Amino acid sequence: MLTGIHVAFIGGDARQLEVIKKCIEMDAHVTLIGFDNLDSKIPGAYLKELEADSFIDVDAIILPIVGTDDEGNVESIFSQKKLVLTKDYLVKLPKRSKIYTGMAKTYLRNLCDDLKIELIELLDRDDVAIYNSIPTVEGTLLLTIQNTDFTIHGSNAIVLGFGRTGVTLARVLKALGANVKVGARKPEHMARIYEMGLFPFHTDDLEKHVTDVDLLFNTVPQMIITAKVIANMPSHSLIIDLASKPGGTDFRYAEKRGIKAILAPGLPGIVAPKTAGQIIANVLTNLLTEQTGDRGGK
Ligand code: NAP
Repeated sequence: MLTGIHVAFIGGDARQLEVIKKCIEMDAHVTLIGFDNLDSKIPGAYLKELEADSFIDVDAIILPIVGTDDEGNVESIFSQKKLVLTKDYLVKLPKRSKIYTGMAKTYLRNLCDDLKIELIELLDRDDVAIYNSIPTVEGTLLLTIQNTDFTIHGSNAIVLGFGRTGVTLARVLKALGANVKVGARKPEHMARIYEMGLFPFHTDDLEKHVTDVDLLFNTVPQMIITAKVIANMPSHSLIIDLASKPGGTDFRYAEKRGIKAILAPGLPGIVAPKTAGQIIANVLTNLLTEQTGDRGGK
């Protein structure tokens, strides 16, 4: 339980509502900043403005998935008001407090460094990334089906990268009956790909493996699907790039060659905001319970 723990939420989207709900269920004292346009009141939460004393007795500040932009603006789909997180607000945050977000830009990292506030980036965590791979892969399948006139079953699919998203995607494609090759670079990944009944190859050799590909999925956050690779692909093939912006595809050349290439960021929040919110809520409330120890264990 989070009895006696004060959690302040600043901004967010539909995912944040799941986190708020869970914190209230666990008996935290919940303050909402930047939620003035909410359709209906959330029982058990207190609406506040962002002011100098907002965080005076707060144990944890919860920011949206993208904490702030490079100027400190915090996005909220629940408010038209501008929310800018600055030093002036955070100097009064008690020393024990932490800030949680999905991922932080340099502005937020610098702000927390300067004030010696512990910043926790949830999307960095293996558990969150692995849970998130479930809605990510479901969203990938949706995009694939919408953008092809052939089945995934029986198609030649390549997954680039064998990390938290790549493993899930490769497994699901195989389960759907695709012929799956996986591009990786570590010997232990090659061994695991082989063990899973998939075909491993080194990403350095990608050019050679795309000549008969129908579906090319990328999870490597570096330029990997280069013009040379695209030049070797059949014209009917589809590229779905899941890597964080700007992705790992030469989109300009893909367009020139008439190969459809889609950059698809943020799929969990788009295809399953409720699940994506619950994933964050579960991990976050566990972390808050650990952070607050005895005070939260009532
Ligand atoms: P991850 O676990 O770090 O996996 C990334 C994989 O890329 C690793 O297997 C890594 O291999 C491989 N890689 C990196 N550089 C490489 C290179 N030069 N050659 C070959 N392989 C290379 O990351 P993740 O959690 O799966 O996320 C992957 C990307 O998808 C990230 O950019 C993430 O932000 C994004 N993402 C997008 C969505 C969405 O909705 N579109 C959802 C979740 C995540 P090594 O182990 O050999 O380094």
